[in-house]
Amino acid sequence: MSVPTIAIPTQKLLKIGLKAANNIHYQLSPKELIEDTIRIGEGTLNDGGALVINTGEFTGRSPKDKFTVKDELTENTVHWNEFNLPIEEKYFEIILKKITQYLDACEEIWVRDSYACADKRYRINIRLIAEKPWTSLFAYNMFLRPTEAELENFNPDWQILCAPGLKLDPKECGTRQHNAAVISFKHKVILIAGTGYTGETKKGIFSILNYVLPHEKGVLSMHCSANIGEKGDTAVFFGLSGTGKTTLSADPNRKLIGDDEHGWTEDSVFNFEGGCYAKCIGLTEEKEPAIYKAVRPGALVENTKFIPGTNKINFEDGSITENTRVSYPLHFIPNAIEPSVGNTPKNIFFLTCDAYGVLPPVSKLTAGQAMYQFISGYTAKVAGTETGITEPKPTFSACFGAPFLPLHPAKYAEMLGKKMERNKVNVWLINTGWTGGAHGTGSGSRIKLSYTRAMITAALEGKLDKSEYAFDPVFGFAVPQDCPGVPHEILNPRNTWTNKQAYDERATFLAELFKKNFLKYADGVSKEIAAAGPKI
Ligand code: ATP
Ligand code: MN
Repeated sequence: MSVPTIAIPTQKLLKIGLKAANNIHYQLSPKELIEDTIRIGEGTLNDGGALVINTGEFTGRSPKDKFTVKDELTENTVHWNEFNLPIEEKYFEIILKKITQYLDACEEIWVRDSYACADKRYRINIRLIAEKPWTSLFAYNMFLRPTEAELENFNPDWQILCAPGLKLDPKECGTRQHNAAVISFKHKVILIAGTGYTGETKKGIFSILNYVLPHEKGVLSMHCSANIGEKGDTAVFFGLSGTGKTTLSADPNRKLIGDDEHGWTEDSVFNFEGGCYAKCIGLTEEKEPAIYKAVRPGALVENTKFIPGTNKINFEDGSITENTRVSYPLHFIPNAIEPSVGNTPKNIFFLTCDAYGVLPPVSKLTAGQAMYQFISGYTAKVAGTETGITEPKPTFSACFGAPFLPLHPAKYAEMLGKKMERNKVNVWLINTGWTGGAHGTGSGSRIKLSYTRAMITAALEGKLDKSEYAFDPVFGFAVPQDCPGVPHEILNPRNTWTNKQAYDERATFLAELFKKNFLKYADGVSKEIAAAGPKI
């Protein structure tokens, strides 16, 4: 069986593989997609002209419903685990048929051609066939936008079929429930059914690049943001969701390369995407001016609410979800570079949002510690917004991105290790989480964004090279003892806790979590890396 390509040679000349769809909108402009969304009653403009929609039942990714087709290509190459769930080919074929029939029967569908990878040596062409106009707008914002000339001879390498309204029968389709995102590397197709969460398309493409680039092209793919200074010095910021990749990469003094997904080649760092997907919860002009101003015509805002009686978005309102989002093209950030390609990184930041309030807000890592932290991929989020849940929720996610990595983490770690060694990169650990106490204890609070920004600026400008360092007794990191723009007391987390004994207990507790998690990697790493864990 082969998957038919929906052939669209030019905008005017439609030759469609889908049978019955008699109203196919190809490559509409953002303005047209906004009009279509409003016409079908699924969106509203805010007072600034940004389109506000609801994604429906799903307001976040659904990792338990993401499947990879197990076939002769993937059987022995994909690292099957809780994030790489196998599905049989026969089910892929059933779901493909269902989606095709479903889209055939839709009164209208929206088709969009775009591509991923700003370094043209690695470009992959993507065709998105979507039930909803706003999914097409999301693709316009997030993927790279081909020119008219490039569209003339556009051949999709990958296709995404996206049908949020299609509910699957789990028994018939081999899925867990009615929604699924299914990747077939053999057919180069991503099927998305039963969920309208736009992030599924973006992270679907990220997942395939995390397979193709390291496995077939020798390029390290990374879940990180990146920006570049005036002197051409690139910085990358690894981190799990909510740790600050998007927020901290939008720095008025540096040019933005991208906010989430990058590749590191022999000689460059490049963005996979053409846009940003920023969190909106608590968004203010004062704290995040660049992102705030990007909420304008063309931007797509998801799952926010208006202040009653107005079209003013209430960014404080998390009643639909805490994961409110806005997508916009990269050039909505004033100092984004195009094409989004930079030099080999000089500085790497690992961002962790430690809700235990234990890790130092900034520390410098040795090569061994850097590898240990990369493999560990630690963050601890606040448990949730429900009352009564006060304990932080620790997460260890290898390479700061396990949900998107089809290969064994060792593959990415090995590539990063070699690159760091060859390029003499500085590696910093930044705790963007709690200080003064753990989340929920009353005394702790999230570290001020302005302080985190000041620490990153100091690291980038070499100002921390002149600082004195002390060693964290539990984790062994080198902690700078002064940093411009940051009160001296907060640099050593133990100082910020009134109850020192409570701090020591929490630090020991976290150290144990690190050690326990690392057991599964201990055999496969060098002595240097194995010894770079907590000291107790
Ligand atoms: P995702 O992978 O889900 O896109 P992300 O790593 O890009 O996540 P951000 O969107 O940057 O994460 O989210 C960080 C959130 O934390 C923002 O809402 C930001 O305002 C908030 N925040 C509060 N204090 C800080 C801080 N000190 N450093 C960074 N972010 C902070
Ligand atoms: Mn982000």
